[in-house]
Amino acid sequence: MPPTRVKAIILKRINFRETSVIVHLLSDTNGKIAGIMKGVRVSQKKIPPLVYQQGSCIEAFVYFRSKPGLELVTQPSLLNSFNFSGENLVLWKKILSEIDRFVPIARFNSKGIYDILSETGILIPYIKNQRAIEVIVTEKILFELGFGPFLEKCLICGSKNNLNFFSGKLGGTVCSHCYAKEPTSFKLPEKHVQVLKFFHRVPVNQVSMVKYIPETLFKNLMKCLNEIVLYHISE
Ligand SMILES: [Zn+2]
Repeated sequence: MPPTRVKAIILKRINFRETSVIVHLLSDTNGKIAGIMKGVRVSQKKIPPLVYQQGSCIEAFVYFRSKPGLELVTQPSLLNSFNFSGENLVLWKKILSEIDRFVPIARFNSKGIYDILSETGILIPYIKNQRAIEVIVTEKILFELGFGPFLEKCLICGSKNNLNFFSGKLGGTVCSHCYAKEPTSFKLPEKHVQVLKFFHRVPVNQVSMVKYIPETLFKNLMKCLNEIVLYHISE
């Protein structure tokens, strides 16, 4: 099979043997790829390390195999290094590891997730509110993967009223009449449900309008999202 040209962001990178690296790539249209770049760490080859650094956006050719295993990734070239430092680097690495954990290695149309990640990388240097980025990215990735959060109705009875409980196992809101039927549900102020809905509606590149998220609100929003992860995404 001829190689496929892919655009991808490097979620994870591990040195392999003397000169190679193993990478997890989130591609724009071919899903998540576990691949090997052979010989890139040989100094005579003059391949800049940014081309295989975690967080870099690259273009490369991938020889997709018919059997499971590492794909061969060749001719990588750098499109955007997303080369951050300090707090921004910490946040970027956290997001990359989160996505690496959430997204299975498989071929699928990953455009939605790729765009979220790529827009996030572009935004990070300009945004002071790191909490907002963390909430919006986690919400959008989980939703793209089909896990929720589903916030429009009670996931047990379908009612649209009194939605002030949340169940990560069910993936969204539960009303105050039904919560006892789902032991995993916990109380969540309806205002906080509204904020979560807001993050669902707003595109990543407009998240700068959120100037501040109070501690309690942030904890509640992340609790909802983390509970979804707990029940639906294995370690
Ligand atoms: Zn209900």
